[in-house]
Amino acid sequence: MLFELKSVFLSDGETKKCSYELDITKLDIDGIFPFTSPVSVNAEATNRASLVTLTLSCKYGFCRPCDRCGTPVEDVAEVSFSHPLVRELVDERNDDYIETPDFTLELDEVVISDIILNYPQKFLCKDDCKGLCPECGKNLNDGDCGCSKTQVDPRLEILKQFMEDE
Ligand SMILES: [Zn+2]
Ligand SMILES: [Zn+2]
Repeated sequence: MLFELKSVFLSDGETKKCSYELDITKLDIDGIFPFTSPVSVNAEATNRASLVTLTLSCKYGFCRPCDRCGTPVEDVAEVSFSHPLVRELVDERNDDYIETPDFTLELDEVVISDIILNYPQKFLCKDDCKGLCPECGKNLNDGDCGCSKTQVDPRLEILKQFMEDE
């Protein structure tokens, strides 16, 4: 979606909005296609004292397996981002700023890169997910499996080894 921003750039106090849907279901992240619906995008560009800011509110459905127990979790994410827009970038190293030399902005690129950068590296079905039993593979969130309880927490195992090495 091309966002035409000339009127915003040229007039202080001006705001322009645009809403659309962008299909991201074909987006492959680490071998999976986590996005289950198009993103619904609400974009707003505002000129305040000649500083133009783009605000994006994005809502999309996703389905992603828990990193600890593997259970797929389906949910809806709502995220927002904002970027200052400039006609021309003076300092190329500043990634926050977006250049709009001809007063137009291709929103798709911005939306997709914001969503990818915001995609969490680690993902759990719940904060206290118990994971799978290392012995039998049972999902311990569903209840105890009855395997030996002498298992040491792997983090404590590291400590134990460290102490032995001393
Ligand atoms: Zn889990
Ligand atoms: Zn078990």
